[in-house]
Amino acid sequence: MSVLYNENCEWFQHGSKGADFCFLCHEPMTFPCIYWVGGSPTAPVSKGSELWLHPQCVKKLTAGLGRDLIEIHLMKDVASAWHQSMKEAA
Ligand SMILES: [Zn+2]
Repeated sequence: MSVLYNENCEWFQHGSKGADFCFLCHEPMTFPCIYWVGGSPTAPVSKGSELWLHPQCVKKLTAGLGRDLIEIHLMKDVASAWHQSMKEAA
């Protein structure tokens, strides 16, 4: 992860063009912005997909990811209780 403050930062001096649009809101990218790299089905992380985000969009994305993680934990408990009740009923 990197925070890029302007187009003169070291990242762009290595040939990266950056992104034209934010990954989440699809509005034009502005500075400061946040940049991440992740893997893809056909490429390792070092050559994978790039995420470019506005700071306010990072807030929305992390809140959404956290909400989804909580849902997984809650559903895990529900699923576990359901399996236990089915065992007891059998
Ligand atoms: Zn955005």
